[in-house]
Amino acid sequence: MRVLIVEDEASLARQLWASFSEAGYAVDTAPGGQQADLLVHSETYDAILLDLGLPGVDGLTLLRRWRRSGIATPVLILTARGSWHEKVEGIDGGADDYVAKPFRVEEVLARIRALIRRTAGIVQSELRCGALSLDTSAARVTLDGAVVKLTSHEYRVLAYLMHHRRRVVSRTELTEHIYAQDFDRDSNTVEVFIARLRRKLGAEFIQTVRGLGYRIAGEDI
Ligand code: CA
Repeated sequence: MRVLIVEDEASLARQLWASFSEAGYAVDTAPGGQQADLLVHSETYDAILLDLGLPGVDGLTLLRRWRRSGIATPVLILTARGSWHEKVEGIDGGADDYVAKPFRVEEVLARIRALIRRTAGIVQSELRCGALSLDTSAARVTLDGAVVKLTSHEYRVLAYLMHHRRRVVSRTELTEHIYAQDFDRDSNTVEVFIARLRRKLGAEFIQTVRGLGYRIAGEDI
């Protein structure tokens, strides 16, 4: 999963970047409206964290512009404390949820997880496939109850596939959702991550659909 954090306050942006990275996400940050606008139109995100109070183009203007141009990515807005009209305008402007400043980063992480789940049509924070379980709240994978140690990229590949398990996911799509913008990408490395996941989890969980991509095997969530 890949998120964009739009926040002009450098120390807060750094803190959010660190927390989201630690929670298993590929993270891009934008310190202002223009940079955010460029990234949203050139990259692919699973969720966007948008501070409304930005220098230059403000968050609400950006959000309305994105929604008008058909960008449907879930957006969590950060509003000023006690400013109920920001929440109302933000949600009417196309935000999916809000958190008022100051906040606990745990709440922001939980709300982003919920938005990503809801977008994927999933209602539980623990995703299951037979003996395999992926707990999105702890970024933890278990097989028959035993914790499986995954690298951050392996975790992102598995989490993305499990959130989209009803369909085949192409290598290109996986590549877009597991790397941050400044990362040197190579879609061939996706094959390497898949091979490692199969070694760690067993070959049966991830099917290759020749010429199209990958799919999680089985029915139960
Ligand atoms: Ca701000």
